[in-house]
Amino acid sequence: MKIEAMVINEPGGAFSTQSVEIDDPRPDEILVRIAGVGLCHTDIDASGGAWGFSFPAVLGHEGSGVVEKVGADVKKVAVGDRVVLTFRSCGECKRCAAGEPAYCHFMPALNYVGARTDGSKSIRLGDDEVTSNFFGQSSFATYALAYERNVVRAPEGAPLEILGPLGCGVQTGAGGIMRSLACEAGSSLVIAGGGAVGLSAVMGAVVQGCSQIIVVEPYEQRRALAREFGATHVIDPKATPDLAAAVREIVPIGVDYAFDTTGRPELLQALMDCLGPHGTLGVVGIPPPDTPVPGNMLKAITFGHSVKGIIEGDSDPDTFIPEMIALHQAGRLPFDRLVRTYRFAEINQAIRDQHAGECVKVVLIP
Ligand SMILES: [Zn+2]
Ligand SMILES: [Zn+2]
Repeated sequence: MKIEAMVINEPGGAFSTQSVEIDDPRPDEILVRIAGVGLCHTDIDASGGAWGFSFPAVLGHEGSGVVEKVGADVKKVAVGDRVVLTFRSCGECKRCAAGEPAYCHFMPALNYVGARTDGSKSIRLGDDEVTSNFFGQSSFATYALAYERNVVRAPEGAPLEILGPLGCGVQTGAGGIMRSLACEAGSSLVIAGGGAVGLSAVMGAVVQGCSQIIVVEPYEQRRALAREFGATHVIDPKATPDLAAAVREIVPIGVDYAFDTTGRPELLQALMDCLGPHGTLGVVGIPPPDTPVPGNMLKAITFGHSVKGIIEGDSDPDTFIPEMIALHQAGRLPFDRLVRTYRFAEINQAIRDQHAGECVKVVLIP
């Protein structure tokens, strides 16, 4: 079938909307007509060529839409269902069985390779095979092929075209606080970065009832947004040479939790110095390769500190995505306020705007 996709032809190049051919669903595949797809930092990172797959490529891993066709073995959803797409997991390994699919033993093969597990690609551009099946979806297109493990039904009334970010960025931020760190009511927290993930973390912290929610963010408009979402304090890192001292002015004993969305090694180190007794640093920002785990072992023992790497907010999408939609419908997770929509043809402008801090979360609409 002919579809339109936002194709990237070479590493670091621009995206262009092109007509490509997508396979009919195999027995375990689900064809989804995309209503909207979020732009996540991971897409931009992968488009730069660092992931080792071939180009041209169709990326995109925060899709939402309507089921158009299902393979013979698919039982979870039916034609016409409204769905959110998320990361893919096997459903059978030890971690999946424990409700921890973000650490599925087959996570790389199912999400990061850019092809089906048998090596075939589901999208073609003329005679060329196109890197596809990114996060089991490649949803930068009018249609995407997904699987039972990475589709979650959305209830009527939920704003379908902007639900895609719940499948990655929002679940990483909100889940990081609500699931991975499980911050308890009354606890104190510093969040580094006020982008879509950091601001979703603020919303999650408010849901959890954290008492001090401190956000470190260089863009003034994002600090203002953090305040609106419930941050109790904001810090401009450009004007704050000693972050730990600034945080300890607010919470003298140090915070119970720190949450990093930036991946900046010097900031990770500073966040360790913000922690109080038995504090935990959760990290979702991707640091440069070979960055050591931050901190100091003697201090870690003395104060009982931990560092926790986090994928997808430890979300089990089948339960957490419906929970987030219910919170949104109750007005308690207003992630829609992060979103600015663009048409597919405007993707390169959208990337520039997001990079310049002019918008927080881009959602691309066919
Ligand atoms: Zn698994
Ligand atoms: Zn993502």
